[in-house]
Amino acid sequence: MEIVESLYEIPVQDPEEEEFSSADLNWVKFGNLEHHDDVALIPYDRVDAFILGECSNVECPTRFHIERGRKRSLGSLKDFKDDEYLEYRLYWCSFGPENYGEGGGILPSRRYRLNTRNRAARPQSMRGCTCNFVVKRLYARPSLALLIYHERRHVNKSGFVCHGPLDRDAIGPGAKKIPYICNEIQQRTMSMIYLGIPEENVLEKHIEGIQRYCGSDAKVNSLASQYVHKLGMIIKRSTHELDLDDQASIRMWVERNKKSIFFYQDSSETDSFILGIQTEWQLQQMIRFGHRNLIAADSTFGIKRLKYPFCTLLVFDSRQHALPVAWVITRSFAKADVSKWMKSLLDRARSVEPGLKISGFLIDDAAAEIDPIRDVFGCPVLFSLWRVRRSWHRNIVKRCSSIEVQREILKRLGTLVYNIWGGIGSLSGALEELTQDFVDQTAFMEYFKGRWIPKIEMWLSAMKTLPLASQEASGAIEAYHVKLKVKLFDDSHLGALQRVDWLVHKLTTELHSSYWLDRYADECDSFQSVKEEYIASTSWHRALQIPDSAVTLDDNDRLFAKVLSQKDSSISHLVWNPGSEFAFCDCAWSMQGNLCKHILKVNMICDSKQGHQPSLSFQSFNDILMHLWQKPMDDSVGLDQSMAWTYQMLDQIQKLVELNGSKDIGTLVNNLPTRWVSKKSRTHVGKPSSTAALPSNSNGTRTAAARKKNRKRKRLSRLR
Ligand SMILES: [Zn+2]
Ligand SMILES: [Zn+2]
Repeated sequence: MEIVESLYEIPVQDPEEEEFSSADLNWVKFGNLEHHDDVALIPYDRVDAFILGECSNVECPTRFHIERGRKRSLGSLKDFKDDEYLEYRLYWCSFGPENYGEGGGILPSRRYRLNTRNRAARPQSMRGCTCNFVVKRLYARPSLALLIYHERRHVNKSGFVCHGPLDRDAIGPGAKKIPYICNEIQQRTMSMIYLGIPEENVLEKHIEGIQRYCGSDAKVNSLASQYVHKLGMIIKRSTHELDLDDQASIRMWVERNKKSIFFYQDSSETDSFILGIQTEWQLQQMIRFGHRNLIAADSTFGIKRLKYPFCTLLVFDSRQHALPVAWVITRSFAKADVSKWMKSLLDRARSVEPGLKISGFLIDDAAAEIDPIRDVFGCPVLFSLWRVRRSWHRNIVKRCSSIEVQREILKRLGTLVYNIWGGIGSLSGALEELTQDFVDQTAFMEYFKGRWIPKIEMWLSAMKTLPLASQEASGAIEAYHVKLKVKLFDDSHLGALQRVDWLVHKLTTELHSSYWLDRYADECDSFQSVKEEYIASTSWHRALQIPDSAVTLDDNDRLFAKVLSQKDSSISHLVWNPGSEFAFCDCAWSMQGNLCKHILKVNMICDSKQGHQPSLSFQSFNDILMHLWQKPMDDSVGLDQSMAWTYQMLDQIQKLVELNGSKDIGTLVNNLPTRWVSKKSRTHVGKPSSTAALPSNSNGTRTAAARKKNRKRKRLSRLR
């Protein structure tokens, strides 16, 4: 076959089918006599269609994952060959590259290590498949992708077909009769078992999954049934206690689960114990939802009850629900320690996705070390009020008996926060007044004086200096926190709370499984009840289900709002202090200290109404815009640079707005302080004249963004 030396001689192929595979393409040898590869050129936007096609190979159905990736930016190369990449991705068949079968000596580093004590446990997924290809987005022609196939057959190192119906060369006795189970099916089956779904339902789903790989007959079904039953037994019997001594047990766990650990520092005289856990699936989610997006920290959990508290890093998934992508178990908040694990985490993610960029990092603790975040992630730090709000709310309910007093105190505390941008009176005066007015609430005042007065200035100053996160984000983090509580602090584990191995086990099995299945149910539109429960798992989402007509505002003095119950129209809930993050509702959920759907719904309505104060995150956003607006600038090149940067920022925000897919982008655009200019004409327009309206137009911003908040969630491509 002829070897082609220039890419320009290779035609671009664009098959008509919705999905296509390597069989639908003509492959050309590209390179020179010594070294050449099979290549094909396709439009870059058809890459997903190609990968989907490759996955549904009849002989070897599989999935491909990104094994390695690299990126460079346009303009970074002066001289380049015609096959130089802008983006480079190495896709590998998910039955490889590791082989857990050969010789039985390699420890399976699965997401979960099954505690079988049986070294000959059969490998279920990784079969050393060598099938892999590269997708290069071309530097010289970014609209094109060069596909390079290294190994098109699904064979192992010895050259034997290693999965799919054609694999007759089984590993181990009797193995050829055992249906292969790829990672995804195994994960799904385990997740279902962990969540306590009845065995027959698990089996049904399991058989559905493996049929894709090995057809269906009585034999297959009976083997599948044995497999599911066995897995159930293993999980039931599996224990967190690998050793009686907790520390030894953790060391063993670490040794066996290297792939799920991004940082480990054993405790010693000089070092504190730090264990950073991130499974491969969590890593993928972090890259998928964290790139050019937000990461949030639920900074501490279990400080009183667990041996070591832990911090969770969260991303916001396609429904803007908080998804845990890493857990850090440690008691150390020292700057040096935080820096170390943050750096490891980011390095790990960048080894898979070199271009990974985090847009913002949400913290919830005013005492948190901010420097490591700025140094490592190189992004702005935002502050979420959820923790302080929740803690005030819970303690008020706990320590004050009358609801009138409860809601009034919360409102007053809220006013303290709302006054951070130059409100009326001094802080000490306001605190003095508060303690005077509620002097008879001794239980609460004792708590407040002891816990908050000494540090309230620090908290308020963090809120003032850092941009504030939205109520949706706060609600999502809180929903995660509440779920943790339910999972970890149910009464059956009281004796285990002081063991780290128990905590690790719990996080990496049950909690991980439940999030895995939530996402799976949503993306594959299966397990309807799991999916529905997952969608409704944040107050924000539940609030969106309440019609506007169910809300009545007290328009005269705006003291309260009423929300009619959707289930029982004879019940309505009273939301005190509407329009504020520190509103107080009398429903059961709110009485437990949670930000409830009634408050969020009322606040959504207030946000779009004249006369109500904007939410804290809006005031914070306006504050930033005002700063930008007030920057003194003479008519110099500096002004040109500022203008260029501002335009870049506007352009990015515009894309975000478009992405979030409001139906009436037109209205949205008109309401924004700066008029968006369409791409075509932008080059002719110097400075948008309506910029001048910025300071006085804060109401417009709010309506626009309130609408934005009610946007439809768009699913990202499932391949990313
Ligand atoms: Zn393969
Ligand atoms: Zn409520």
